[in-house]
Amino acid sequence: MAGTTTQCVYCGSDVSCHDPVFVEEAADGERVSVGGFCNYACLSAYIEDEELTTGASCEWSPT
Ligand SMILES: [Zn+2]
Repeated sequence: MAGTTTQCVYCGSDVSCHDPVFVEEAADGERVSVGGFCNYACLSAYIEDEELTTGASCEWSPT
């Protein structure tokens, strides 16, 4: 594949087909590119998935 197509971190679609959102994260004082997302819906879904993943290990279940 030639060129610089960026795939959505969440769903893998080509973000240039949508209204892309690019995210950076601070790590050890450096800005690290997390990647691109189609739109805020994919970004929000990605964040929810990440939080659910990390939250699940320290969350107790009432049932
Ligand atoms: Zn997407």
